[in-house]
Amino acid sequence: MVERPDNTSPAFSTPLHVGRPNTAGRETFLRLAGEMFDRGWLSNDGPLVREFEKRVAEYLGVRHCVAICNGTIALEIAIRALGMKGEVIIPSYTFIATAHALHWQHITPVFADIDPVTHNLDPAAVRRMITPRTTGIIGVHLWGRAAPVTDLEALANEYQLPLLFDAAHAFGCALNQKMIGGFGRAEVLSFHATKFFNTFEGGAIVTNDDQLAEKARLMRNFGFAGLDNVVHPGTNGKMAEVCAAMGLANFDYVDSFIETNRRNYYAYRDALTSLPGITVLGYDETQRNNFQYVVIEVGPESAANRDEIVAALNAENVLARKYFWPGCHRMEPYRVLFPHASLLLPNTTAVAERVAVLPTGTTISLEQIDFVTRLIRRVAAAA
Ligand SMILES: *Cc1c(COP(=O)(O)O)cnc(C)c1O
Repeated sequence: MVERPDNTSPAFSTPLHVGRPNTAGRETFLRLAGEMFDRGWLSNDGPLVREFEKRVAEYLGVRHCVAICNGTIALEIAIRALGMKGEVIIPSYTFIATAHALHWQHITPVFADIDPVTHNLDPAAVRRMITPRTTGIIGVHLWGRAAPVTDLEALANEYQLPLLFDAAHAFGCALNQKMIGGFGRAEVLSFHATKFFNTFEGGAIVTNDDQLAEKARLMRNFGFAGLDNVVHPGTNGKMAEVCAAMGLANFDYVDSFIETNRRNYYAYRDALTSLPGITVLGYDETQRNNFQYVVIEVGPESAANRDEIVAALNAENVLARKYFWPGCHRMEPYRVLFPHASLLLPNTTAVAERVAVLPTGTTISLEQIDFVTRLIRRVAAAA
């Protein structure tokens, strides 16, 4: 049991963060980095990046993986390669990068509401937001739980719109035995340090579309098709060799990361399950999940509201966080651009007010989780 040392200092002298990196395979990483130094090949489609792309494509069962320097640039390239412009429909309940990747390219993100139970896009809401200017739909597999893929694919087909998925949370997850990565026209991954699987910084576009993959590859490297031949307006989206080395080293630990996350998840859930007003977001055990996010929703039956619970945890250096609060549509520049967006996003607004994410991952112990859950019980049950 972790005891609070006195009444003034927090229970944990080292903060328990949400999104503390999962790092393992240090020996493999150092060996691969050493080989990289010996080769003197640090970037530009090197052997480690190629090997990493091959591993990712095999693991996800897709034809192509184009490794990118981060998930945001991967989104931007995928959006451009798919020819999106004008308006693109996305959820507002997502990390701000989903919206920024559009706005940065002068495309209007049109926010559709979510299902309050799954937190994922509501296909009926997406349908309502389609206009003659709509050129695409981006679904997000929030918390690694699959978006309503079948309904969104039907809608995209009906309106002849390209469907892209932001799968930044969903590496290692599957829907009905099919790995996330193979849905829509393409999917985008993030390998940021805080994500389930990291390459320090990194991302990827994964797709079964040969032409799209080729286009993304060219765009990643300034549009160079040959030494002196530029065929697209491209950018610099290349993944560095050292990042691919980290990815290759982490690959051996994917299952053990999931195992640890699952253990943590059930420790939280079992300890909080009988607490009135607190719901731990569920994972469907018939699907493959990475359990990277321990999400609680604080309802009106709780004696303390979400903000009070987060504040009480933060005071003890348990850095639980509100997530995707207040929603993209209530952050700049979208707040000013779309001042009435909230009227169409009641579920997004409500969910953003009640969600908090708790620390998990390979660096937290069951003893620490026990302390965190006792604290939540104390705060949420006190009148
Ligand atoms: C992390 C994240 C991104 C951005 O990925 P980076 O690698 O950090 O650029 C995009 N979308 C979602 C949903 C994310 O969580």
